[in-house]
Amino acid sequence: MEIRELYAALVDLHGEPDGAPVEHGNGEGVRQLLTTILSQNVADTQTARATEALFEAYTDYAAIENADTDELAEVISVVGLKNQKAERIQRALTAVREETGGYSLGFLDGMDTDEAQTWLEDIKGVGPKTANVVLSFGFGKPSFAVDTHVERLSKRFGLVDETATNERVHRVMNRRVPDGIKYELHVLMINHGRGFCTARNPDCDNPVCTRYCSCEVCS
Ligand code: SF4
Repeated sequence: MEIRELYAALVDLHGEPDGAPVEHGNGEGVRQLLTTILSQNVADTQTARATEALFEAYTDYAAIENADTDELAEVISVVGLKNQKAERIQRALTAVREETGGYSLGFLDGMDTDEAQTWLEDIKGVGPKTANVVLSFGFGKPSFAVDTHVERLSKRFGLVDETATNERVHRVMNRRVPDGIKYELHVLMINHGRGFCTARNPDCDNPVCTRYCSCEVCS
């Protein structure tokens, strides 16, 4: 399947997505990094509640980094995997502070996408999805983030192998999707996943799938 044709069909169905919401100031991407760690394997509503609780409980990033880890885990407990995520958050803040002397990821702006991604993924607990979300949403870099909807659709559309790991889906899709539409296609695939191609009861009678998809889930 030609990616640009699929993209055009998704735009026809769902409308043109807005451009990437680049976060600057307020920690230069650090908040995005922490929020994305909180969001690992959990629904958006729980992520929002945990993020609110985190920034209500602590006045700044230094306070989060230096907090008692068990106490931090309790603050974010609504997201599940609280101990693991508390450790990941503190490790990430330590890595940022050691790199910059403060709490800004602004230096990633000056790196190319692959270099910035490698820096982020060197933090234990930060995988391709978290790194891609930070670079795409926090810095507007051409990086294709693969969440659960995007992974499901990438496989059903036949863009990647059905058995591919999430990491491999990231690698393949980042190679296949042109830089200029990475963020936009990510948004469109999430919209299509939520609106039509749900995990259990996909509604395959839609113009995109009728025209472009021969996936076996519906046949
Ligand atoms: S044909 Fe159905 S299952 Fe396949 S991608 Fe489209 S909505 Fe999903």
